[in-house]
This record gives sequence, C-alpha cells and structure tokens, in this order.
Amino acid sequence: MRVPIIAGNWKMFKTVGEAAGFVREVKGKAEVDGVESVICAPFIHLPVLAEAVKGSSLKLGAQNLHWADSGAYTGEISGVMLQDLGVRYVIIGHSERRAYFAETDETVNAKMHAAFKHGLTPIVCVGEKLEQREAGQTKEVCRIQTGAAFKGLDGAQAAMAVIAYEPIWAIGTGKSSTATDANEVIGYIRQVVEAMFGSAVSAKIRIQYGGSVKPENIREFMRQPEIDGALVGGASLEPGSYIQLVEGAR
Ligand code: PEP
Repeated sequence: MRVPIIAGNWKMFKTVGEAAGFVREVKGKAEVDGVESVICAPFIHLPVLAEAVKGSSLKLGAQNLHWADSGAYTGEISGVMLQDLGVRYVIIGHSERRAYFAETDETVNAKMHAAFKHGLTPIVCVGEKLEQREAGQTKEVCRIQTGAAFKGLDGAQAAMAVIAYEPIWAIGTGKSSTATDANEVIGYIRQVVEAMFGSAVSAKIRIQYGGSVKPENIREFMRQPEIDGALVGGASLEPGSYIQLVEGAR
C-alpha cells in the first residue's frame, strides 16, 4: 500500500513570520492518518519551521539543493545543511527551475544522488510543455526525464523516491490535466520505473500529480489508482485550503 503524499510547494512566497503562523494554524489539522503532509518552504523558513512542526506529523521539504556537500557556490544550499536542520524532503527539477535557472537532466540527476547521500527524499518533477503535449510527445518527455533523473541510483533508493508528474502547461495556470489523463501518464511513468528497477520498485514508488490541484479537484485525482497524492503550489499557501487538500487525499 502506497501512502499518499500531499506536498505544498510554497515557491517564493511568505515571510518567515507568515510561515510560522501557517504552521500554527494547520498543526493537528493538516494531519490525517494515512496521508503524509509535507511543507516545502523557502530555505530561510526552514530553521523556524523545523521548531514549529515539532510534536506533529508534518514534514518539511526544501525546494532545491546543490549537488556538492560544500564549496565555493555562492548562494547555494547543500544536502548537508538541509539534513542538519531535520528537513526530510527536497523538490528537485521543478519546471520553474528548469525554465529559469538552467536546471538540466544532468543537474537533476546529480541532485538526486546528493539527496540520497544526505538522507533526503527527493520529489523529482517531470512533465511536458504544451507544445510537446500537442505534438504527442508527453510520454517520451516523461520517459527521458525519468530515466535521466534516476541514472546510477539503485532500486532501494528509487523505491523511496517520489516523482511528481507536472504537465508544465497546468502549473499555476488554473488549467489542470483531467484526472484520467494524469492517471494514464503516471501509469506510464511507473512502467518506465519498472523497466529500470523491476516491478517491486515500481509498485512502491509514489507518483504524485501536480498542476492546479485545489480542494475542489483533489478527490477526483485521488480516486485514480496510479495517483499517490499531489504537489500543490498556489492552493497550498492558505491554511484552510491546505488542510482541505490533506483531508481530500485520505
Ligand atoms: C507547483 O508549483 O508544483 C504547482 C503544481 O503549482 P500550482 O499548484 O499552483 O499549479
């Protein structure tokens, strides 16, 4: 049985004070048996949130990491630093990082290795652009991105990872994929994982959908057999909405 996972991606929103206030409001509420609830906050929020989530089942995630443990990389944050804070998850290869910060399949793969080295669970994002979807390339794009992300990892690591299938045209646009379409692509991604690591791993790995998920549509996605939760941007920013998302994933 795969435990569904709701991960809020706060992107570059909230001050530290607002973030702490959010956790106070959702503590005990965005915590539902049988659902994992993860808040992926900006780096500077993480020390304060690490204290704020104590005594709850809420988990913390970062939105990026560097592949090196330390070094002359101005402005970067390493897996060593995240692990030291008690961060458990890290988003890797979000389409906004691929589009605006030169993230490539190679850097995604290096970051996957760094995450596992430091006991962090990667939430690795794959997904097609609108023109790729229209050209019928959705599955091919997901196959290439998934294959590259998991290169050189072993089955035990792959089984622990989380993949977020995020069609880029659906992120922050209010246009979500249909639940059945998302289920089909996610089922295909699971086959890609199976071809790489075998069926025991593909049966275990959790694959989320992401792209304009909100309280009104979360249940529809969760009804699909292949979908193991959601990576949510906009609708994860407001406490009431986040609580409903976690409840909807039950
Ligand atoms: C995201 O940031 O990964 C995302 C899916 O954003 P939104 O839910 O706002 O589309």
